[in-house]
Amino acid sequence: MRHATTVVIGAGHCGLALSRCLAAHSVDHAVLERGEVAHSWRTQRWDSLRLLTPNWMTRLPGHTYRGDDPDGYLSMPGVIRLLEEYATGAPVLTGVTVTSVQPLDQGYLVRTNRGACGHGPSSWRPGGPPRRPGRPCRCRRGSPR
Ligand SMILES: Cc1cc2nc3c(=O)[nH]c(=O)nc-3n(C[C@H](O)[C@H](O)[C@H](O)COP(=O)(O)OP(=O)(O)OC[C@H]3O[C@@H](n4cnc5c(N)ncnc54)[C@H](O)[C@@H]3O)c2cc1C
Repeated sequence: MRHATTVVIGAGHCGLALSRCLAAHSVDHAVLERGEVAHSWRTQRWDSLRLLTPNWMTRLPGHTYRGDDPDGYLSMPGVIRLLEEYATGAPVLTGVTVTSVQPLDQGYLVRTNRGACGHGPSSWRPGGPPRRPGRPCRCRRGSPR
């Protein structure tokens, strides 16, 4: 079982960006991903999809577009390649589905399909398109929302 100071759930844009920021601050962490890196882009996008935003706008912490087509629009496979490259060196564990996050006196217990994965002072769930990063509501103390 791996223990990490911070557990990030999901290796999409948000999870990988957060991982990059944590690494920049030397925070020990693990990114748990139920599928592969860019799983949403592999499984929930149509083949002909292109980003709405031009390449020059496509930025992540520590990453800016350096290609020769700043006014182009990334294809779905292009987004997957981008995220795969961006994930290089990140502590991503693939095929690990988080099933619950339980607050403890200190930190959280993160349960996964591969058993209890670890706990730390913080746990973050990048949310997907309409959601915002944050702790799962059931982790907040007090009345659940
Ligand atoms: C059709 C469509 C078109 C879009 N076009 C654009 C665009 O043109 N430009 C733009 O900037 N944005 C676009 N978006 C939005 C973009 O997809 C999101 O902003 C971005 O993917 C959000 O990243 P995320 O990391 O929050 O979520 P996701 O990319 O969804 O990543 C979440 C990750 O968490 C993993 N996960 C979820 N639950 C668990 C769990 N319990 N355990 C472990 N892992 C888990 C998932 O497998 C996934 O890999 C589009 C979205 C859609 C749906």
